[in-house]
Amino acid sequence: MTGRRSFWGWGTTDAALDPSEQERIAGTVGELFGIPTPTADPPPRLEDLDLRESRISAPAALADLMTADRFERASHTYGKSFRDIVRGLAAEFPHPPDLVALPRDADDVARILDWCSDSAVAAIPYGGGSSVVGGVEPLVGDAYAGTVSLDLRRLGRVLEVDGESRAARIQAGVYGPALEDQLRPHDLTLRHYPQSFEFSTLGGWIATRGGGHYATLHTHIDDFVENITAVTPRGLFETRRVPGSGAGPSPDRLMIGSEGALGVITEAWMRVMDRPRFRARASVRFTDFTAGAAAARALAQSGLHPTNCRLLDATEAAIARR
Ligand SMILES: Cc1cc2nc3c(=O)[nH]c(=O)nc-3n(C[C@H](O)[C@H](O)[C@H](O)COP(=O)(O)OP(=O)(O)OC[C@H]3O[C@@H](n4cnc5c(N)ncnc54)[C@H](O)[C@@H]3O)c2cc1C
Repeated sequence: MTGRRSFWGWGTTDAALDPSEQERIAGTVGELFGIPTPTADPPPRLEDLDLRESRISAPAALADLMTADRFERASHTYGKSFRDIVRGLAAEFPHPPDLVALPRDADDVARILDWCSDSAVAAIPYGGGSSVVGGVEPLVGDAYAGTVSLDLRRLGRVLEVDGESRAARIQAGVYGPALEDQLRPHDLTLRHYPQSFEFSTLGGWIATRGGGHYATLHTHIDDFVENITAVTPRGLFETRRVPGSGAGPSPDRLMIGSEGALGVITEAWMRVMDRPRFRARASVRFTDFTAGAAAARALAQSGLHPTNCRLLDATEAAIARR
């Protein structure tokens, strides 16, 4: 990623749509809905936002880990659902986090959580902010003195690779592309590709029980987790790293899909695999959607497990072609 992340929408500012692209998309929308070609609203400007003052300040001991910077607070106000983008585009930012925390390691996370607990401040883990269910939105009611968005982006490294067992110990704040970049020299891949891959993190995938696009066999992040380390308000949570276990309820599964409610995932041992050496793809056109669905079902039930098989309806195919 080269440009700065947009504080209200998807992607980076340098990849924003130019006027001719906007015009083309407006034309498509007009055609699809049978309405006059709509005009695009101008994007909001940071300097015009009516952002309320922070209600809390960082204690001296944590001052170098926390910021009340306008851009950071605005960027951490919403996830990336359609509703979030619409509110961002309308410059509605009534509940920004009071502070954004940028821990460098698990110890920092523990210190930040301790302070939040002692100060009645709500801490909300933040990975890539691509949540579509309000998971990162600091709307917590009046019981708290304030809110801290706890952004894990500095925990972005692959710490260890166990080539023999094909596993890697990976920090939770790593974004998809940076994770694959670090595994590539080992000829390994996690091969977990949610559509939000570019702007989401390992910790977010685990916390949301994310699913990837390579989806006819292993798709959920659960399949790749060997162990999880998390910092909770009650101390460290660490599961045993074993290749497989049938011993009772899985503590990993407690954390997987917990949406940050139980603690902050700081790292995990993940099962990785050799990078694929061959690739082939094909597109097939069907006379109608039902025929396509029958073919997709037959393929899914064949046991052949192609990496990906995706059925597009006529409208989606028309949009994808533009
Ligand atoms: C365009 C788009 C495409 C998408 N495609 C897919 C898809 O193909 N598959 C899919 O499963 N989802 C998809 N999503 C949803 C979203 O990307 C996933 O839920 C993703 O796993 C979130 O990761 P994140 O790092 O952005 O987490 P965030 O959005 O930052 O956080 C999500 C939740 O996890 C918590 N959290 C984040 N990091 C941690 C941590 N380290 N420890 C504890 N809790 C944490 C947060 O508090 C929040 O509740 C898509 C979203 C968009 C906008």
